[in-house]
Amino acid sequence: MIYNRCGKSGLKLPALSLGLWHNFGEVDDFKTARAMALRAFDLGITHFDLANNYGPPPGAAEETFGKILCSDLASHRDDLIISSKAGYFMRPGPYGDLGSRKYLISSLDASLRRLRIDYVDIFYHHRPDPDTPLEETMGVLDQIVRSGKALYVGISNYDAMQTRQAARMLKSLGTPCLIHQPKYSMMERHLEGGLQQVLREEGIGCIVFSPLAQGLLTDRYLRGIPKDSRAAKPHGFLKREQVTNEKLARVRKLNDLAQRRGQTLAQLALAWVLRLPEVTSALIGASKVAQIEDSVAMLKNKAISPEELREMEAILNS
Ligand code: NDP
Repeated sequence: MIYNRCGKSGLKLPALSLGLWHNFGEVDDFKTARAMALRAFDLGITHFDLANNYGPPPGAAEETFGKILCSDLASHRDDLIISSKAGYFMRPGPYGDLGSRKYLISSLDASLRRLRIDYVDIFYHHRPDPDTPLEETMGVLDQIVRSGKALYVGISNYDAMQTRQAARMLKSLGTPCLIHQPKYSMMERHLEGGLQQVLREEGIGCIVFSPLAQGLLTDRYLRGIPKDSRAAKPHGFLKREQVTNEKLARVRKLNDLAQRRGQTLAQLALAWVLRLPEVTSALIGASKVAQIEDSVAMLKNKAISPEELREMEAILNS
């Protein structure tokens, strides 16, 4: 594994981190979930990313990981970076969504109970809240670090301007913003539109989610929609109709390029997001141990030449 410094902080994160959004819920096979977490850790993936609402049902992924922590990883707590988040809908009523002090504090307490730990390494505000004053939300993140329930804090899905404001506010409170978690892949490039520069200027690390576009940027859908794939599952966030022929035409060309480089498309897609110096870690998901092994093997061949980058741009613009 390669470990990259997270922005201007003292913390290093693995170039690949494992997210538990899918495949760690109550509906999933616990044995596979456990095997994936343990294999990831054995391969040097020290960072596991969660959120209050990951499941289904919401909370189940934290419960699954709490169980694995207890049975297998308890003695490795000091070698693990565990993150959680709150900000999306968690429960009905006025205190289970968005960015108030009331919601964030109670949500983190519930996450810690499910995870069976007394602190998370990183706590995120999961998305901006248009109605709660930013001072309140950032004040909560600062309070959470001071209370010892999180070592660092971050933000996710904030745009460039919101990030600048949040970063300045957190700095003035004495709790720097460690990290931003935006969506970024060959199919989703908002990061390049201003946020990338803000992160560099503010010294904030960056962990990009869905770098494989939920599986589209892999060989998974080249021969149709497999039964065990995310797009085939009723609770999967990738919908069948998002797997279009137009996208697959580009994916096939990218797959040919990856094969010429002697690697899988998943590996090329991960190497591509990691080409940006601002990107600390690519946050992958997986449904099988072999996928994690394949993704980590990317580290042996992650340099992309300027000619290859130009070829990829041409494919993406075709
Ligand atoms: P990816 O884009 O990495 O998609 C993961 C899916 O791709 C897997 O479930 C699998 O599909 C397929 N896959 C993975 N590796 C391979 C491989 N080597 N070869 C072939 N197929 C592969 O990421 P996710 O969309 O899962 O997101 C990752 C994490 O990001 C989440 O778990 C979560 O922690 C975070 N996230 C954060 C959000 C936020 O708002 N902050 C929002 C969304 C995600 P299949 O299951 O079909 O086998």
